[in-house]
Amino acid sequence: MTNFATEILTISKNTGMLEDVFAILNSSGIQNTSYKYENEDETLDFIKENAPSILILDDKTEAPAILAKKVKSEFEDNIFIILLCDTENFEVKNGDFSGSVDSFVQKPIQKNILISTVNSFLKIKKSLDKFKKDNKELNKSLYQLDVLYNTSSKLSGNLDKKKLYEIMFETLEKTLSFDLACALIFPQAYENSENKLFIHSLKKPDETLLNVLSEKITDYAKENAQNNDFTKVSIEEFIKPSYENQNFDIKLLNFDKLMAPIQVKDKTYGMLLIYRNKPFLKEDVVCFQSIVHQISSALQAIILYDEIKNTNVELKKLERIKSEFVSIVSHELRTPLTPINNSLEIVLSENITDTARNFTNMAKRNVKRLSGIIEDLLDLSRIETGKFDFKYEKYNIKTSFDIIQKTFEEQAKEKGIIFETELNSNLPDIYADSRKIEQILTNLTTNAIKFTPSGGSVKISAQTINAKNLNKDTLINPVCDYSGDYLKISVKDTGIGIKEEDIHKIFDKFSQIENSLTRNAGGVGLGLTITKHFTDAHLGGIWVNSTENEGSDFNVIFPVYSDLKAFEINLNAARKINETTCLLTLKSKEGRQKLDTLVQKLKEENIIKQLKNSKEISFETENYYAYKIFFSNLQKNVCDFMTRQIQDYINKESIFKDCGIVLERTVFRKEDGDYSQGI
Ligand code: ADP
Repeated sequence: MTNFATEILTISKNTGMLEDVFAILNSSGIQNTSYKYENEDETLDFIKENAPSILILDDKTEAPAILAKKVKSEFEDNIFIILLCDTENFEVKNGDFSGSVDSFVQKPIQKNILISTVNSFLKIKKSLDKFKKDNKELNKSLYQLDVLYNTSSKLSGNLDKKKLYEIMFETLEKTLSFDLACALIFPQAYENSENKLFIHSLKKPDETLLNVLSEKITDYAKENAQNNDFTKVSIEEFIKPSYENQNFDIKLLNFDKLMAPIQVKDKTYGMLLIYRNKPFLKEDVVCFQSIVHQISSALQAIILYDEIKNTNVELKKLERIKSEFVSIVSHELRTPLTPINNSLEIVLSENITDTARNFTNMAKRNVKRLSGIIEDLLDLSRIETGKFDFKYEKYNIKTSFDIIQKTFEEQAKEKGIIFETELNSNLPDIYADSRKIEQILTNLTTNAIKFTPSGGSVKISAQTINAKNLNKDTLINPVCDYSGDYLKISVKDTGIGIKEEDIHKIFDKFSQIENSLTRNAGGVGLGLTITKHFTDAHLGGIWVNSTENEGSDFNVIFPVYSDLKAFEINLNAARKINETTCLLTLKSKEGRQKLDTLVQKLKEENIIKQLKNSKEISFETENYYAYKIFFSNLQKNVCDFMTRQIQDYINKESIFKDCGIVLERTVFRKEDGDYSQGI
């Protein structure tokens, strides 16, 4: 077989013609080769084997048109064919050359014409080759970009350190096709107490190479992170199964290499080193840097997330300790109050001076006040730990009205306040825990008297109201899906009133609106928190209409159910779908996975207390994804806190930056599906 010195091949039956062409091209410094035509098959084989760029074909072969066509189709048009032909009617004589021959040179051959034709094809060929090379590089860069893009979306949803390095090696392999990659990851950046050396390799590194690699990367790492302890390094190897029986030896160190530290801010968490037999190009280095950068950012997110998680655990622990402390202290404080009160009673029953009586009565009032505060603290602790027990029975409000009337009549009179109760006749029974309803009324009436100056009035009334006449916008707690009648109790005063912007605050625990009366009147800001919780527990609601300096009208409602069973069914249902929901929406389909990850994360974090099954919590339209997140059995302020926390997560997570996430907190009302209050 002839080896080509050039890309030009001349084929003819005629040795004289071959010699002529060879001489003409040679005289111009164009190297070329000749082949004497014997038969079509052999000629074709010869052309195929040697793959010239330009074929000069003499028309004196058996069927030049057919041969030209076959060559063109074999080389998919990547060959130029010049036909040497007789002057006249060669097409008629020799067949159809259209589409197969690129140029015709007439015989007898004119030197200049042949040389210039060959030269122009050589130039075209050169440009085409360059174009193909550029195109190949462009394709490679596009491929790398695509891999990097996919990597970034994979990384963004990932909070697992182990997975992070898997993604890293996978990306490195796809973009840079390394022969061997090793990463030394420090314990802080991996769920491990030791440094971890990952080796991903085409062939198994032999023992000497492994030792050298381990030493080499540790030395690099030492330069970047002096304070890390490098005495313990555990090695994990991943060898491509197809090369399992082959080894890399120390010669691998002669391969081209790229190396970089994995850093978050100024702190180094590991080192990455890759080897490749084929030298790395400039674009490869950029790609490598970009991967290392992506990994570092993803690691930073994981480290931050871990910190937040740990802080959260700590906070929860503290919150529990605080609740237990409040509970224990309150019990301890309550115990001596009963004997003190009894002793005071005994003193008062004795024959004592007026001054002593006054002081003893004062002491008694303070003991009562103190026990009120302690009871509130204990109630709060029971609410927070979910230890409240409600005994629901058929109940008529009349009984409680009588008790309230008796309890507050005297107190109001002493303060110079007109106090009255008004009951509509035929008020329906409700299912309720009578003691809790009395506590609600006591809290509201205490406040009304407390915040109404002398000369004012306090009126308690009860009536029936239908669900459709309720103004849901003013309700503090979203009432459940109920369309029947409610029993409504109103505690109305002509006191100092509440500013509109303060109305939502007063239901938060320990919140008091700063004014002279609050300071003098005592209390710790728990009454309304407890009241709201108790109305919730009866599937009821609470709201207040108030005007500063004119007075307040606190309203509580309780649904009227026909029987205890119906009430209990709804009570159970409401426990499941309760309170505020948070609507997380995401507009891109690709982001779905990210949203899933976030929801999962929030769930693990207990930020989402309860998620219903996926069918109910998520809905999707063609290009719109959303999660409705239910906060279960939580008060509004806790829900607000949760919502803020979710918002924080979203702000902190770079993964959501480009996703168009809308976080919406909304009061969930089944009846009207109104989400208009969302942020
Ligand atoms: P406290 O035991 O301190 O009264 P509450 O939770 O019962 O706590 O009330 C919280 C705050 O709401 C009060 O400190 C007061 O500022 C405001 N408030 C409650 N009821 C009234 C009312 N009837 N008139 C004016 N302000 C009120």
